[in-house]
Amino acid sequence: MTRTTPERPVDIEAMFPELAEHRRTTTRLHPRPGSPERDESSVAGPFLWPADEPWPLCEAVHEKGRGELLSDVRLERRILDEAWRRDSPRGPSEAERATLAGLAEGLHLPELRDDASIPLLAAAQLFTRDIPDLTGPEGCDLLQVFWCPFEVHGPERTMDVRLKWRRSQDVGDALTDNPEPVVVGRAECVPNTCVLHPEQVVEYEWPELLSGDVQERIDAWEEELMDAAAEEDTYELTYTGDLSIAPGWKVGGFARWGLTGPARIDCSCGAPMRPLLTVSDQEWNGGSLTWVPLEDREIVDVMGANDPTGVYVGRGQMRIFTCPVDPTHPHQINFQ
Ligand SMILES: [Zn+2]
Ligand SMILES: [Zn+2]
Repeated sequence: MTRTTPERPVDIEAMFPELAEHRRTTTRLHPRPGSPERDESSVAGPFLWPADEPWPLCEAVHEKGRGELLSDVRLERRILDEAWRRDSPRGPSEAERATLAGLAEGLHLPELRDDASIPLLAAAQLFTRDIPDLTGPEGCDLLQVFWCPFEVHGPERTMDVRLKWRRSQDVGDALTDNPEPVVVGRAECVPNTCVLHPEQVVEYEWPELLSGDVQERIDAWEEELMDAAAEEDTYELTYTGDLSIAPGWKVGGFARWGLTGPARIDCSCGAPMRPLLTVSDQEWNGGSLTWVPLEDREIVDVMGANDPTGVYVGRGQMRIFTCPVDPTHPHQINFQ
């Protein structure tokens, strides 16, 4: 099934032609639970990884045995998913609740030393053929994203995110199963396996990064809309919510800055970096449902439907920034 973002409710660029200079495309990934193949784009699906190449490891010194068992995280999600899907009894049964209560966070692997190496989690595998806004180093057509699911790395104590670009045609014998850590720091660092339905849409820059004049005129236009909406008791459209930046997991486009205000993310070479991959806790939110794909209209209120990956990091969004001059320069991550 494809996913189709409805046409924007107004043509904002026609009203504010200056926005043409602040337009970019992005590819919404539209992850949905499924069983991707090894040669397909996915979130947390099987990676196309050479059998004779070492899998990336976290070798940083930090506690690795305390947290949640990865198998428990998956069991809990499966139980809850089935419980809320069936008609009766709706919600977890007595027995299921007892099982869930038995899944404990704690020190699961006391013998695992802080300097031991653990496999990174396979987070996303993206082929350029599927994702028009994905551009990497010359000749590479596959991006593999990994992370260490413990929020303890670096001065900001975040997950450790790693990127691997490769030429898919060079992969001969491939690994059958992704290696995985036994324990993760927090369940919300674990993505559910999802198939992707990439769709390219247009975005406009975050409002605070537009010129003062355009910002003021957009504000004035929004105020008029607000008054009209109050009179007619209808939904009130906003630039930020409905017209500028798409929600959910996506590649390319712009970054939202709702939490901190705009920040400059510069590469070590001096170039302003761009968002490569946005990891998000919600594919849409109650505030602005205009981004809900046409095909998902009927499941808008189903529990968990807007949170297919189960990932929640930062205050909901993690953006991986890369250098537009040379994508092999070290990436940076930023949270909102
Ligand atoms: Zn780590
Ligand atoms: Zn650079």
